[in-house]
Order: sequence, then C-alpha cells, then structure tokens
Amino acid sequence: MNDIHLPHDHGQEPIDIPSPDDFEIVSTILKQMCDAVRIRIFWLLCHREECVLDISAMMQMSSPAVSHHLKQLRQAGLVVSRRSGKEVFYRASDTSEAHFLHEMIEDLMHLTCPGRER
Ligand SMILES: [Zn+2]
Repeated sequence: MNDIHLPHDHGQEPIDIPSPDDFEIVSTILKQMCDAVRIRIFWLLCHREECVLDISAMMQMSSPAVSHHLKQLRQAGLVVSRRSGKEVFYRASDTSEAHFLHEMIEDLMHLTCPGRER
C-alpha cells in the first residue's frame, strides 16, 4: 500500500489492506448465509445433531432440498456429518467460523441461545 500514490492526501496514516485473496474466506463463509432457510438449518444444527429426514420434517421441506443445503454447508466447513449404521447425522462444526456465525445469527435476531438457557 505504501508504494501506491493516492490522488488525494487527507493526512491519514497509510493502511495495509489485505489482498483480495485474503478476503475470500469471508466471502466463502458469508455466501452460506445468503439464504434464510439455510441459515435456519445451520442454526438448528448449532444446537443439536439431526438426520436429514428429521431436519426435513422440522423445516417442512423435501429431503433432497435439505440435502442440498447440507452439502453446501459441509463444503464450506460449517457442518460435519457422522454415519451411524444406515443413518447420517449432521451438526455444526466445532470451529471458530461456525461459532462466530452461530453468535452472529442470534445477535442479529435478538435471540437468546437455547443452549445457554439451560
Ligand atoms: Zn444458539
């Protein structure tokens, strides 16, 4: 940044701006938050582990539609799955990104975390 000559000098200190590639992680994660249904599924999985059929029933959606959202969330590293016999269970990842989004969702919704009430 220091080697870029700004057209106007407003007397501010120079700032180091991370590269566009460095911001990509934020874009990738926030892209997952562009759909209210997907956010709702992610929020549920922040609090409990569930299989696709139960998520579908709770969301009142088809299981292929739910599976699509789960696949996207899993590819972004926000959800993990565990196979048990014939069933596959999903839950939010135990990562700082997932914790951050969990808190962000509840902050924006002015919602008390059901996990914290107990
Ligand atoms: Zn919560």
